[in-house]
Amino acid sequence: MSRVFCIGRNYAEHASELGNAIPDRPVVFMKPASALVEAGSTVPFPTHGSDLQHEVEIVVRVARAGRNIATPSAMGHLDAITVGVDLTLRDLQSALKARGLPWEPAKAFEGSAPIGKFASIDQVPDPGSLQFSCAVNGEIRQQGSTEDMIFPMPVLVAHLSSIWTLRPGDLIFTGTPAGVASLRPGDLLTASADTVGEFHWHIAK
Ligand code: MN
Repeated sequence: MSRVFCIGRNYAEHASELGNAIPDRPVVFMKPASALVEAGSTVPFPTHGSDLQHEVEIVVRVARAGRNIATPSAMGHLDAITVGVDLTLRDLQSALKARGLPWEPAKAFEGSAPIGKFASIDQVPDPGSLQFSCAVNGEIRQQGSTEDMIFPMPVLVAHLSSIWTLRPGDLIFTGTPAGVASLRPGDLLTASADTVGEFHWHIAK
């Protein structure tokens, strides 16, 4: 079973919109594999919070195991790329942050990680300069480029592998650009990335 690593505050404008400082090392949390929701499915609206927000993110998949991977060889450990959404119960996360408590109830619930179909990373001309976006009911909400990451993909792979031995199938949600906003029951959520594709999920009524 793969693990889902997630990176927080990896785009400066998003860190600022939530009032967070620019981190000096990657902010890491995890979601269980049970959080993943494949494209075309319905995402349950959680009942333990009310402000469900989208965070569109580029997601990469680990192909080769590695520990203490060096940055120059890090991209060679990845084989696939897609776009996903780090769904967040923002009201609950804010309450947990204020009390210095872990985020899992706000970030790692079932259905909290809609994920598109993977494309070979070799198909993407430059993963370090990839445009991606999300829309709600057809209206663009977030647009970003991986070139704006504070910690680029090779740095993320190297950092994670300094803590965990990376395994084939591990996923990395690489952080969201500015523009996170609320979802309502019945919304149509769309995430897309250049050369990778466009994917849809229905938020349950
Ligand atoms: Mn996120």
